[in-house]
Amino acid sequence: MRISDARYSRDRLRFDLALRFIQHEARTSTIRLWTGLTDDRIRKLYRSYIADDGGEEVTRHRGKSPQQATFFTRTPAMRQETAVLASVCYLLGVMPPSRVADAQRALPGIQRGEALCEAFETYRRLVAAPRISFEHAVYLVTALARGDEIAATLCSACRGLIVVDRYATPGRRCSNCEDTAQGK
Ligand SMILES: [Zn+2]
Repeated sequence: MRISDARYSRDRLRFDLALRFIQHEARTSTIRLWTGLTDDRIRKLYRSYIADDGGEEVTRHRGKSPQQATFFTRTPAMRQETAVLASVCYLLGVMPPSRVADAQRALPGIQRGEALCEAFETYRRLVAAPRISFEHAVYLVTALARGDEIAATLCSACRGLIVVDRYATPGRRCSNCEDTAQGK
């Protein structure tokens, strides 16, 4: 492959990933971080996407990214949804094999970005009324990789994956096993 071809296909991958992020309503700053494209190119891509597809329903988010780990653990329903998304992320190789202190900088990349889209799309097919946005998914993956606020562990009864906050007592059970134990 000639150098220009290699460069062309790398750019192509970046654009394809950026488009997928746009469809998932990612913020410009997130798209820039994961694709390496400049804000200007992202804006142009966004405009052509709107023009081509009439994708007016795509909301463009501005401002700060989500910052709350408690979003994922606050209710049994959210814990269950988070477990589904986190499991898919582990299965599809979005998660690094071990903890990464500098996850926000170390994780983003084309390959992992593609796996993340795959995981998010799978999660949205598996959950009836999904409440975790793409930006929250990015946050979840980053926080799990860092492991300082939340961590993935196994339910002490069924060994299914659960996401707990870092200060959770050991031996936690998933919401299904919790319900069974309480005779619900
Ligand atoms: Zn369980």
